[in-house]
Amino acid sequence: MAWPYCYKWQQAAKGFLRRNPWCADHKARGVYVTATVVDHKVAHRGDMKLFWDKNNWQGLCGHCHDSHKQRLEKSGVQVGSDVNGFPLDPSHPWAKG
Ligand SMILES: [Zn+2]
Repeated sequence: MAWPYCYKWQQAAKGFLRRNPWCADHKARGVYVTATVVDHKVAHRGDMKLFWDKNNWQGLCGHCHDSHKQRLEKSGVQVGSDVNGFPLDPSHPWAKG
């Protein structure tokens, strides 16, 4: 399994969210919502260089991440994970934003 749901990612994502606490999508609209998910702006498609490139990271709230994910699922690509590495399940309470 190439997907790095690993301790290193969880710690990196947590640290990123501490420094970037606001949902990037909401912030772009002038609304401050706590980000709970680290998303990849450019789908990494398993590319570890892209995956670990912090310039390619953005914090999203569950709601925004869900809409990103749904858009991406149409192309068969799934990106991002929540900070604890839970499965990307829209029924998860944290995914409600
Ligand atoms: Zn948002």
